[in-house]
Order: sequence, then C-alpha cells, then structure tokens
Amino acid sequence: MPHATILEAGSLATDIKKEVAAQVARLRQAGVEPKMAVVAVAATPASLSYLESQRRVADKLGIALEITDLGNNADQGRLEAELRRLSADSAVHGVMIQLPLPQGLDTEAALDCIDPSKDVDGLTAANCGLVASNHENEAIPAATPQACIMLAESYVPLAGKQVAVVGRGRTVGRPLVSMLLNRHATVTVCHSRTTNLAAVLKSCEVVMVAVGKPGVVSAAELAAGQVVIDAGISVMDGKVVGDVDPAAVETVAAISPVPGGVGTLTSAIIFRNLLRAIELQSGLTASCPRATDSGKPGEPN
Ligand code: NAP
Repeated sequence: MPHATILEAGSLATDIKKEVAAQVARLRQAGVEPKMAVVAVAATPASLSYLESQRRVADKLGIALEITDLGNNADQGRLEAELRRLSADSAVHGVMIQLPLPQGLDTEAALDCIDPSKDVDGLTAANCGLVASNHENEAIPAATPQACIMLAESYVPLAGKQVAVVGRGRTVGRPLVSMLLNRHATVTVCHSRTTNLAAVLKSCEVVMVAVGKPGVVSAAELAAGQVVIDAGISVMDGKVVGDVDPAAVETVAAISPVPGGVGTLTSAIIFRNLLRAIELQSGLTASCPRATDSGKPGEPN
C-alpha cells in the first residue's frame, strides 16, 4: 500500500526558533528584554506541563515567559482584570490566554481585554479583522492557522488550490479561512451542519481539519493525492490524537501527524508573533500590501 509523506513540523519549528533566538539577541543588545505572559484558569495538569515546556523553550530563546494560573475559582471579572493589567504593563510585550477556558467563561470578552499589539496568539477581533480584510501584514496573524498553512506549503503551494477547511471555530477554522483566501486558495468551509462531507472533501486537493473530535474525518472521506493538515487535539486513552483517522496515511499523499505537526509548529510561531508584537509596539508597523498574485501577503503584485 502507498504511504503518505508525514509532514513533521520539527525542522520548520527549529528554523523558526533559530531566527527568533537571533532576533532576541539583537533586541537584548538594544536594551529590550522580551517578555510574554500566559494566563490560565483552572489549568489541567496537561496544560500546565505544556506551559512549563514552553517556558523552558522561551528560556533558551532569551524570552521571559510568565505563567499565571488564576485557579478554579476565578470568575470573568478576575480574568479580564488580569488581562488588562498585563496589557497595560510596558515590561510585558505579549499576552495570551491558555485556551480553551472552562465552561461559563466568555472567551470572546476575555480576548477583547488583550491589547491587539500584544496579542501573540493573533485571536483578538482586531487582528482577525485585519486578516479578514486582507491587511494581514498589519496584523499579528493567528498562530495555529499560520502553522496549518506553513505545513501545507512545505509540501505544495496553496495559491489556486481547492482547499477544504473542516471546522469554523474561533481559534482555528475561521481565521484559517481568511488566511487561505489571502493566499489565493479556493476555500470550502465545512462544519457540523455540512451534509455529505465525503463528497465535499473528495473534491478538494487540500483538507485542513480543526474540530476536536478524534476520527471526525475518516480515511474513506479522503482521496488519493490529497494533502491533509490535522489541527485537532484530543486526549484518548491517555494519548494525544488528532481529528483525522490514522488509517488515512494509506490513502492520501501527505498528512501532518498529531502530535508533532500543527501543535509543534504553533508553539514556535507564538514566539515569532512575540517579535512581531514588539515591532508593532515600537511603532515599526509594516506597510500593508494586500494578497498578491504570488499568493504571499507582503509581496507586491
Ligand atoms: P471549536 O471552536 O470548538 O470549533 C469546532 C468546529 O468543529 C465547529 O465549527 C463545529 O461546527 C465543527 N464540528 C463539530 N462537529 C463536526 C462534525 N461532525 N463535522 C464537521 N465539523 C464539525 O474548536 P477550535 O477552538 O476551533 O479548535 C478546533 C480543534 O483545534 C480542537 O481540537 C483544538 O484543541 C485544536 N487546536 C489546536 C491548536 C494547535 O496548536 N494544534 C490550537 C488551537 C486549537 P459548528 O460551528 O457547526 O458547531
């Protein structure tokens, strides 16, 4: 049976971290000490251990990473106050929320409390709006969609491709759709009300999945030759798994693994977004080219 190319994120993530480390060294020489803060509410042991590993990476890059877990009893007001405090602190260049928040907390309202120029996850309405209006170069673009696109483009250029996005969630699917349009892909968006998912998916050359349900896309719904990017993260029997049936490796041309794919790259991109945040805070905003014929925002037509 043919076996898909596995789109491991390791070397892409290493390259990003090298670039970040070099840039951080330059900033430190200029007297800037890059610092970001992550705010969690009732963090699970798994998310705390992920954050601790991010802190170790940050240390190596020369970035201070402050982790605050507001605990089990934090309400919306406490969360919003902490995000506003960090946004107003000039020593903190990046602020993000450890998502998902516990039920009962309003993610949208919390995101609104983050200064968009410190929004290293790229999820505030301001940054998503800039991306959606094709002003991506003025924004801090959402980290996980950047990872999905980078992994796919490590295998095939996306301009002109038929791309299906499964999931229209606030953190992945929605910003991903805008970023794919900015790169001249032809995009079909699928969600829980989509009928005949198999027919839609089989008609596309690239399939990106961000749902959070293991096996939501089966091997039978995919087609030979496709590039599949799996952003899903779930824990099943103590193991981290994605959304796509692992048997898909026998069908498609290339597929990103979980773990070791989108999540690995997202973690590195968040640090690159911190550098973008520092650039925005120092007033060094990039010019704002629109999506271009080359399919890469930032290049002239
Ligand atoms: P979300 O807001 O819960 O959105 C889930 C989406 O999936 C919704 O649009 C929902 O449709 C759709 N959906 C549910 N059941 C479906 C089905 N049977 N068929 C097709 N679509 C279905 O989730 P999210 O925050 O965007 O996150 C999505 C996944 O990405 C999660 O696993 C999350 O853990 C993961 N994630 C990964 C990273 C990373 O770094 N790798 C970062 C962030 C998130 P409706 O809109 O119709 O309800």
